[in-house]
Amino acid sequence: MKLPAFLQPRVLKQVLSAITSARYTTEFPYVPYRPIEGFRGRPKFDETACIGCGACAEVCPPKCIDVIDDLESTPPRRRLVQHLDACIWCGQCERHCPTQLGIRMSNEYDCVGFSPEDFEECVEKELLLCEVCGTTLAPVDQIRWLTRRLGALAFANPTLMMFRGRELGLIDEGVKSQGDEVVRSDRLTLQCPKCRRKTANFV
Ligand code: SF4
Ligand code: SF4
Repeated sequence: MKLPAFLQPRVLKQVLSAITSARYTTEFPYVPYRPIEGFRGRPKFDETACIGCGACAEVCPPKCIDVIDDLESTPPRRRLVQHLDACIWCGQCERHCPTQLGIRMSNEYDCVGFSPEDFEECVEKELLLCEVCGTTLAPVDQIRWLTRRLGALAFANPTLMMFRGRELGLIDEGVKSQGDEVVRSDRLTLQCPKCRRKTANFV
């Protein structure tokens, strides 16, 4: 005679094992859950370590990080706005962050809110503009990070050289021409590659 399923030796063994072993489920939210090592929780910006480059926004699969440049504010600013309600906690932002510290996966697993704004996290960075045409060069922190990382090699690039020289107090601000046309003295200003080409060809 065929035994009912719950009397099968294999099933009985499983039942006894389940009754006598420790509980599999957690008591969250009554008892805080302790994530295991390597757990990928909520990604968090570190405002000091972030240089505002926007690489995290480029690699984010659901595009949940907005990069908003405001050139009208004084000084011009870049805002990186992360929308956690769209985040899939994949860790690509942390993996591709050039400083390795600008955004890190935390252990936080419970994010609660009642409106999209409750899930926004924001970092602001001052922007450096081309002193000739006013286009965006990069955030100041990114240029600073780059010049320090390149060391002496930074002096091979005129704009990086000007930036570092000014930071060190070795170079005064260059003469900025007025109007759309570039002039020879514009060589001593911070420039985008397009304007740099024009001033380099200026005779
Ligand atoms: S430094 Fe890292 S966190 Fe900051 S914008 Fe760049 S990639 Fe994103
Ligand atoms: S963890 Fe993934 S989805 Fe979330 S912000 Fe980073 S890259 Fe985007």
